[in-house]
Amino acid sequence: MNATPGITQTAAPDRLGRLLRDLRISVTDRCNFRCPYCMPAEVYGERYQFLPKPEILTFEEIERLARIFARLGARKIRITGGEPLVRAKLPLLIERLSRIEDIQDLTLTTNGFLLAKMAQDLKDAGLHRVTVSLDSLDPETFSRMAGRPYGPERVLEGIEAAERAGLRPIKINCVVQRGLNEDGLVDLARRFKGAGRVVRFIEFMDVGNRNGWNLNKVVTAAEIVDRVGSVFPLEPAEPNYQGEVATRYRYLDGSGEIGVIASVSAPFCGDCTRGRLSTDGRFVTCLFAAGGKDLKTPMRSGAADGELRQIISQIWAGRADRYSEERADNTDFEGNVANPRRKIEMFRIGG
Ligand code: SAM
Ligand code: SF4
Ligand code: SF4
Repeated sequence: MNATPGITQTAAPDRLGRLLRDLRISVTDRCNFRCPYCMPAEVYGERYQFLPKPEILTFEEIERLARIFARLGARKIRITGGEPLVRAKLPLLIERLSRIEDIQDLTLTTNGFLLAKMAQDLKDAGLHRVTVSLDSLDPETFSRMAGRPYGPERVLEGIEAAERAGLRPIKINCVVQRGLNEDGLVDLARRFKGAGRVVRFIEFMDVGNRNGWNLNKVVTAAEIVDRVGSVFPLEPAEPNYQGEVATRYRYLDGSGEIGVIASVSAPFCGDCTRGRLSTDGRFVTCLFAAGGKDLKTPMRSGAADGELRQIISQIWAGRADRYSEERADNTDFEGNVANPRRKIEMFRIGG
């Protein structure tokens, strides 16, 4: 390595040889939906204590850490949450992050409810593209899966506004749950077939501690591909890049593609280059981690960039997370995870 004295190089690979390439930043733990698979309303009700403002990283702090992560090798940033669009003045953060030279892909995952009015501002601030979550086009199923008394209209308007603003290609995330929305997968595929939009079907995961996950509620990627492919024939497509989370399938009629994210039936930990920054400034090395390394306290106590780089590199170098691969060997006959361990809730660290 051509080390310049005093300049830290890209973070060394972790214990399984994986580089730090992607950073997911959760900008709020709050959300305007209550999807039962993520933030069930009976747990996250009116009395639930979300993080108080002083605990939440400011835009200045997020930018500073993002620059450090970029220095250590991150090339892609995804803004997430909670629902990122409920964080006040979000375009100002996007503007700051879009100025980081090494970041080649700046994107955001949203439930789409506030997207119609924000899409153009986000684009103007420098956002490259968006992923919009949409589990069903059927109003009743949508409402059940969002935990709110709305249909999908506002989300669809958000997707259209994002397209008009040029936040393309748009990805549409659909979490598939047995007995809830599996009958609507073909409708979603039909609606978004065509250039510039990719529906990505996600196997229901055991994120957090409170979503009632059981293997029997998972519709596997193979079944999803069969369901969609039986109406719109598909063929496998090559990954766009190494470590791509979704497996791609192309429509044989040339009208685009879908993706399936098989984190349960075919885990992809071996290629996982993702680190996460929680709303309250912890560095988390796996979606299913029990905790993370507090970066906010040293940062607010005056740590220099070099010290923060060292903390992050050390944590990454010691990383051996491969939860989804371990889960595959750790699920009992009834479909429950044997010896479940405590995990951070997903809305604190983003999907
Ligand atoms: N609120 C935003 C949204 O819903 O798009 C961003 C945060 S959300 C935690 C990020 C992604 O995680 C969403 O696409 C959501 O559908 C997905 N997700 C949440 N809980 C999940 C679960 N139990 N299994 C699979 N995906 C899940
Ligand atoms: Fe909110 Fe997204 Fe979680 Fe649904 S998946 S509750 S929209 S953070
Ligand atoms: Fe990465 Fe953890 Fe998911 Fe495996 S389980 S792919 S290590 S985030």
